[in-house]
Amino acid sequence: MNKYFLTEDQLAVQEMARKFADEVVAKTVTDLDQRHAFPADEVRQCGEMGFLGICVPEEYGGSGLDHLSDILVMEQIARHSSSLASIIDAHASLGSTPLLMAGTEEQKRKYLVPTATGEGLCAFALTEPQSGSDSGQILTKAVLDGDEWVINGNKAFITNSTYASVFLVAVKTDTEAKGSRGISILIVPADAKGLTIGKPEEKMSNRSSYSCPLTFDDVRVPKENLLGELNRGFPLFMKCVDEGRVAISAVAVGMAQGVFERAIKYSKERVTFGKPICENQAISFKLAEMATEIEVARAMLYHAARMIDQGIPFSKEATMTKMFCSEMCVRICDMGLQIMGGYGLCNDYEVERFYRDAKLLTIGEGTSEICRMVIGRHILNEY
Ligand SMILES: Cc1cc2nc3c(=O)[nH]c(=O)nc-3n(C[C@H](O)[C@H](O)[C@H](O)COP(=O)(O)OP(=O)(O)OC[C@H]3O[C@@H](n4cnc5c(N)ncnc54)[C@H](O)[C@@H]3O)c2cc1C
Repeated sequence: MNKYFLTEDQLAVQEMARKFADEVVAKTVTDLDQRHAFPADEVRQCGEMGFLGICVPEEYGGSGLDHLSDILVMEQIARHSSSLASIIDAHASLGSTPLLMAGTEEQKRKYLVPTATGEGLCAFALTEPQSGSDSGQILTKAVLDGDEWVINGNKAFITNSTYASVFLVAVKTDTEAKGSRGISILIVPADAKGLTIGKPEEKMSNRSSYSCPLTFDDVRVPKENLLGELNRGFPLFMKCVDEGRVAISAVAVGMAQGVFERAIKYSKERVTFGKPICENQAISFKLAEMATEIEVARAMLYHAARMIDQGIPFSKEATMTKMFCSEMCVRICDMGLQIMGGYGLCNDYEVERFYRDAKLLTIGEGTSEICRMVIGRHILNEY
């Protein structure tokens, strides 16, 4: 049944991702999470299957598919591993998108091709210790010295740092300019002298995905490493964040689906008072609510992805989708864990991991509060 009206190509990539997720990712995810270990082998396999550059044109080493295909892959992977899906999101939706959108031919050949083929990972470095939601207030600055940019400052929470080959770094290039003006994007290779990658944060969510502080101490990169227009980096980063919001929504829908599948299986097997718990209305109503919420979220998600593919402005819809899907996922995890009773709290039943991982979704790539501010601005302008 093709109830989401997917094309043959989209169904094929979805099936490939489902097989990989069920046969490979599902087997290692709990152990990796418990050891806080990076899924290096799974990332390598994603590279081989073209999942690290799904939307990158074939001429730059990617799979040349549409955004809906990317969403379908993320959803399948997130049914088992939020960490792996988030690594791919940070790399592809946030990291390579600026290169694809604004890179010169030379920059694309040098930095996009190896990351699309999986030889290296990208990281997107905007957040700083003092500025997360208010990302226009960054302090990291770059000054031109002859033919080189000299970068000084600090970043925080940068996903993929430990394994990245290249960083897309937001820097202030005009310190006189107020707020988000005067920001540019520089391409910084991971082995640049003066760049220190700190210890990954010990966090509750996504324990197999590493988010680290970065320190730039007189890091020098060639003048040609400016990505896009000087002082116009912020609007470019924000466009990438919009795409990232759709991708992170796919992580939310995939995780919710994963929890739903586990909860429904458990509810058919667990017997109390002489019958499976799913035969109690209190449980079947919860399952009905979960299924309905996931269906609504998926409809929003596929609609947003199709808007990107058709070149329709999608900033408002991306933010609405991100806000709804992330909060939906938190609700589904709560209901799923409740259905599983005490076992829901135990590692082996996995829903406790989804419950921990889901909370990140309402914080990263625009908190729920910031999403409401953005949507509010859109609708007040429209009506
Ligand atoms: C695991 C993880 C991975 C990440 N990966 C990356 C990455 O790869 N690259 C990157 O650049 N960043 C990354 N981030 C940073 C992430 O984008 C920020 O954490 C997020 O934007 C929120 O910023 P903050 O944590 O500084 O919270 P703050 O901005 O300090 O906000 C704190 C609270 O105040 C609320 N708030 C703030 N301002 C307002 C307001 N005006 N009105 C109402 N409420 C408000 C927020 O919603 C939040 O609830 C990552 C974060 C995490 C946790």
